[in-house]
Amino acid sequence: MVPVIALVGRPNVGKSTLFNRLTKSRDALVADFAGLTRDRKYGEASWRGQSYIVIDTGGISGDEQGIDELMAGQSLQAIEEADAVLFLVDARAGRTAADEMIADHLRKRNKHAFVIANKIDGADPDAILGEFAALGLGEPLGIAAAHGRNINPMLEAVFGPA
Ligand code: GDP
Ligand code: MG
Repeated sequence: MVPVIALVGRPNVGKSTLFNRLTKSRDALVADFAGLTRDRKYGEASWRGQSYIVIDTGGISGDEQGIDELMAGQSLQAIEEADAVLFLVDARAGRTAADEMIADHLRKRNKHAFVIANKIDGADPDAILGEFAALGLGEPLGIAAAHGRNINPMLEAVFGPA
C-alpha cells in the first residue's frame, strides 16, 4: 500500500503551495484568495524512493462555529483516508481558534498528525514553535513551502530517517 498524506488547515496557510512542491505539479489551484480550492485533489510524490499520495484540501473555513461547519466534508474525508496528516498553520498569523478546533478533531480521531508551521520566513521561529506546541499534537516543525525551506526535515519526520 502506498502511504497517503493529507494536507489540512485553514485557508491561506499554504497547503496548495506545499502540495505543488511535493508533487512538483502546478495542478493544484494556488491563490491569494481564501477558500478557492474547494475540493480534494490527489497528487503523486516520492521520498527517497518511497512513493506516496498527497491530498490537498480546500474548504476548511475559519468563519463558522462548530467543527462540522469548520471542516468541510471533503477535508474530513481526506483525514479519514490519510495514514498521516500534515496540519498546516500560518507562522506569521500565529495560533487561531480555527487551528485549535482542527487540532481537537485530529486528536479525537487519533490521527498520526504533524503540526507544520508554514511561512517561517516571516516569523520568529522560537516564539512560533512554543505557540503551536500548545495545540497538543507534538513538536511543531517550521517550514517555508514557497521557498522550499525545511521540506526534507519535514519528510524525514513523516517517513523516518533513511
Ligand atoms: P492554501 O489556501 O492553504 O492552499 O494556501 P496557498 O498555498 O494558496 O497559499 C496562500 C498564500 O500564502 C499564497 O499567497 C502563497 O504564495 C503564500 N505562501 C505559501 N507558502 C508560503 C511561505 O512559505 N512563505 C510565505 N511568505 N508565503 C507563503
Ligand atoms: Mg489551496
